Amino acid sequence: MDARKGNPMDTYRVKPGEKIDLDQLNPGSTGAFKGEKEEALAATQKLNAQLEELQERLYAEHKHRLLVVLQGMDTSGKDGVIRSVFEGVNPQGVRVASFKVPTPAELDHDYLWRIHAQVPGRGEIVIFNRSHYEDVLVVRVHELVPEAVWGRRFEQINHFERMLADEGVTILKFFLHIDLDEQKQRFLDRLNDPAKQWKFNPGDLKERALWKAYQKAYEDVLEKTSTPWAPWYIVPANKKWYRNWVISTVLVEALKALEIKLPPVFSEEETASYRAQLAAE
Ligand code: ADP
Repeated sequence: MDARKGNPMDTYRVKPGEKIDLDQLNPGSTGAFKGEKEEALAATQKLNAQLEELQERLYAEHKHRLLVVLQGMDTSGKDGVIRSVFEGVNPQGVRVASFKVPTPAELDHDYLWRIHAQVPGRGEIVIFNRSHYEDVLVVRVHELVPEAVWGRRFEQINHFERMLADEGVTILKFFLHIDLDEQKQRFLDRLNDPAKQWKFNPGDLKERALWKAYQKAYEDVLEKTSTPWAPWYIVPANKKWYRNWVISTVLVEALKALEIKLPPVFSEEETASYRAQLAAE
């Protein structure tokens, strides 16, 4: 996958049914930038300005909806993406939904119940910080339900996302791919900086010990749930600036493809009449 250069829309998009071996994909890749951080930062800034404008149009048009799913191991940068990629957008019309360990009320329902409630409405962008995919990741790795139960969820999720897409939701899913060394470094950075220690949770080390099982679970998710209507992108995420550029690029391309139109709301006569009223003040 790293050999392919060019548009992240193609390079990092997982084809339906494609077998994924995460060990074969380089999380440290910086693609065509070849390590040129400043160049990538400048390109990302331009993309983010476009994103700001496109988001405003989406909001104004009040027709399309965009759902962005972020998944990845601890420290992979889900919060960082939310901060940097969406830094310029108008908070009106953009919302983050974070999915934690389900509450007792949530556990009393089917696993998609809490998810469905957070899906974007017209004109809205919603970012899922973790998602329904936890129900085939952590739930599988920790054997919270039997395999017979999580095993059928891939198909259920595909159907659910298909329904959302049919109803006008654009779905983009990003797996932030880091490696074990990078995670260790990021944990150490957190521990070494008192201002960042709050981000460190001793439980994270238990999850780290299960790295292999998680990678296997992610490989299955990527193979089984990347669909034409809700594709996965595997984002090389060791370098934060490259990760951000990839995601901004995909978002801008996807929003442009919606061809958001803002036809005039008022007829020429109405507009003239409003102008005249203002002029007469
Ligand atoms: P962050 O997302 O920043 O890591 P937390 O440290 O609170 O936030 O972690 C949220 C935890 O909730 C994760 O360990 C995640 O695996 C867990 N979680 C999310 N969804 C589910 C689920 N459906 N079942 C069990 N655990 C879940």
